[in-house]
Amino acid sequence: MKTRFGEYGGQYVPEVLMNEVNKVAEAFEECKKDREFQDELHRLFVNYTGRPSMLYEAENMEKDLGGPRIFLKREDLNHTGAHKINNCIGQALLAKRMGKTRLIAETGAGQHGVAAATIAALFGMECEVFMGEIDTERQALNVYRMKLLGAKVHAVKTGSRVLKDAVNAAMQEWSRRCDDTHYIIGSTTGPAPFPEMVRYFQSCIGREARAQVLERTGRLPTRVYACVGGGSNAAGTFYPFLQDQGVALVGCEAGGKGVDTPYHAATITKGSIGVFHGMKSIFCQDKDGNITEVYSISAGLDYPGVSPEHAYLHDIGRARYIAITDEEAVQAFEYLARKEGIICAIESAHAVAGVLKEAKTMNKDDIVVITLSGRGDKDVAAIARYRGENLHD
Ligand SMILES: *Cc1c(COP(=O)(O)O)cnc(C)c1O
Repeated sequence: MKTRFGEYGGQYVPEVLMNEVNKVAEAFEECKKDREFQDELHRLFVNYTGRPSMLYEAENMEKDLGGPRIFLKREDLNHTGAHKINNCIGQALLAKRMGKTRLIAETGAGQHGVAAATIAALFGMECEVFMGEIDTERQALNVYRMKLLGAKVHAVKTGSRVLKDAVNAAMQEWSRRCDDTHYIIGSTTGPAPFPEMVRYFQSCIGREARAQVLERTGRLPTRVYACVGGGSNAAGTFYPFLQDQGVALVGCEAGGKGVDTPYHAATITKGSIGVFHGMKSIFCQDKDGNITEVYSISAGLDYPGVSPEHAYLHDIGRARYIAITDEEAVQAFEYLARKEGIICAIESAHAVAGVLKEAKTMNKDDIVVITLSGRGDKDVAAIARYRGENLHD
C-alpha cells in the first residue's frame, strides 16, 4: 500500500491505532476491487444522494464577465446539502463490511457531523460526534439536527475547544474503542489510508464533471476551481483531471482578513511542513511547531492543515493555490445569488471568488468548472451579520 504523496502523508499514529489503521487500509483495498461494494455504493449515490449532480452552465455570469464559458458542479444539490455525504456513504459502507456497529466523527461547523449522523441513521448504526465546545455554541442548529438524527454530540472542552481539538478527541475515542467503532474522518486528512480513501469517495465529483463538460462542449475544461479546507472536495474534483495536462487546477484557500494578518486559514499559502493529526503535511504553525489558531468567515475552511495530496500537488506545480479574503468570498456569495439565483455555501463562494478574481486573465476559448461544494442556507445569518444586519432566529 502506498501511504505517501511525495514526502507527505504517512501514518503518525500511536501504537494502539496502527493495527486498526492498517485494517482500514486493507478493507479499503478490498472494497475498491469488490463488485458488490461498488454496486451498493453506486446504488446509494443514485438513490439516496441524488447523483450524478447537475453541471449547470452559468450563462448570466458568462455574459457579465465576457470571457470564458463557466460551469458549476452542483454538489449543493446533494442530500444534506454538500459533498460530505459522498465520503460518509463510502466510509459507512466500509465500516459495515468490517463488522463495525458504531460510527464516530469530528465536526467543525457541523456539516460533516450531520452527514455522518444521516448515514448512521440510514444504516441503523450508533453515531457519536465530537465537536469543540465553542463550535457547539456557534452551531446550535446543527447540534440539534444531529440529535434529531439519533446521534450523540460530545462538546469537547480541551485545548481551544474548536475543530482541531475535536479531531484529537475523536482519535482518542477511536484508540479506546476500535473493536466495534469506525472513525469517519471528514476530509482528506489524517493517517493513510484516509487522505487517499476520502479522495477516492469524493472523486465522483471530478469524474462526473469531466464527462459532463466533454459531452456539453466537446472539449475538456481549461481551468477547474474548488475551495480548500482539509481539501476533500478539491481533491475529488481535481483527481480525474490530473493526467490532463491542459487543465489548470486551482485551489482557493481561506484568506480571512488577509494573509498578512494572523486571521486566515491559508495553509498552503502561509504554512510550513509539520506533523499533526496523524499526517505529514503543511500546517499553520508558529516557529516552534505549535499549531496556530486559524480564522475564516467560513467554518468549513477553518482548519490549520491541508491534505498531504494538495501539499504534493503544490510542490510539483500540478495545482495552484490562491487565498481569497472574507470580503471577496462574501461578494462572490452575493454575486452568485443575484446573477444566477443560487445561494451557495460561503466555503464554495471562495471558489467562485477565485474565478471572479482571475476572469480578466481568461478569454472566450476558456472553459471553467467551479465546484459548488455546498448550499448556503446555513450561512445566511452570518452574511447578514457581516453586512451589519442582525436576523432573529
Ligand atoms: C466541509 C466543507 C468544505 C471544506 O472541506 P473540504 O474537505 O476542503 O472539501 C467546503 N465546503 C463545504 C460546503 C463544506 O461543508
